[in-house]
Amino acid sequence: MTPLEIFPPTLDAARARIANVRPADYARSRNALEGAVTRLSPYITHGFVSLPEVLAGVVARHRLDVQHKFVFELGWREYFHHVWQHRGEHILHSLHEGPLPERAYTPEMPADIRQARTGVPAIDQAVRALYTTGYLHNHARMWLASYVVHLRKVHWRAGADWMVAHLLDGDLASNHLSWQWVAGTGSHKPYLFNADNVARYAPLSWHSAGSVIDTSYEALDAIARSPRPVPVRPLGEGVDEPPLSSQPPHGAAPQAADVAGRDVWLIHP
Ligand SMILES: Cc1cc2nc3c(=O)[nH]c(=O)nc-3n(C[C@H](O)[C@H](O)[C@H](O)COP(=O)(O)OP(=O)(O)OC[C@H]3O[C@@H](n4cnc5c(N)ncnc54)[C@H](O)[C@@H]3O)c2cc1C
Repeated sequence: MTPLEIFPPTLDAARARIANVRPADYARSRNALEGAVTRLSPYITHGFVSLPEVLAGVVARHRLDVQHKFVFELGWREYFHHVWQHRGEHILHSLHEGPLPERAYTPEMPADIRQARTGVPAIDQAVRALYTTGYLHNHARMWLASYVVHLRKVHWRAGADWMVAHLLDGDLASNHLSWQWVAGTGSHKPYLFNADNVARYAPLSWHSAGSVIDTSYEALDAIARSPRPVPVRPLGEGVDEPPLSSQPPHGAAPQAADVAGRDVWLIHP
């Protein structure tokens, strides 16, 4: 199935997903790759439904406390947009220093990651899923971002620009600020994960025993705070990276004064 077959770009498809939200199952299983997550994000990003419409649709069918996990997660998206509105283009740069100075991180995404042949099953499966579905579960996004930044010493911005342009739900605020949260430039510690964490939440084909992530959190923390990338043994065979579906911004956004008195077309997204 292609990404657009998995996520048909219609209002009916968005409404069907809202009708299928199971808040109790969601709260119990959302951390698992095969858990009851909604996969609503492409519809929200592209404006098929707004967050209040999602919430109203779920509340019409289920009793939902304001502190319910589902409401809390919708709140993250709202929060990231709030930060974007206040900080503007600054969200494209580190909000503060992370575990290492900026110069410790390379500005390029390595080919073995882009081609899903790092030899770490959790990472290679995540990249393949990203390319074939245009979607990744939240936990897989966190694992991929953490590996890229903390183990391979790639600057979070390079990873964020790459990922946002392969996602059907690519959203500058949620994506770039989440990368900063993982990197520790938008939070106070690096987000780290290990093979045990993957084994707990992902199917067997993702399990990564014996790989570079099969280590303790103390060892991972030391790696994150060292400028040296982990040694890699890339596989010979990988996948071809599909073309990027958008180009992340590199200059300043146009200001109102730049376009005053002219007809302006806003091209989505
Ligand atoms: C590195 C990284 C990059 C990300 N990039 C994007 C992105 O480009 N676009 C995007 O929409 N989300 C992004 N997220 C947030 C989150 O992973 C996705 O919103 C979520 O996985 C979408 O799947 P879902 O609709 O099944 O989510 P569900 O768990 O079913 O949640 C329902 C809705 O709540 C919101 N939501 C849930 N969790 C989060 C979260 N942690 N942060 C922000 N909003 C959340 C989303 O709008 C989502 O559609 C990113 C997270 C990380 C760690």
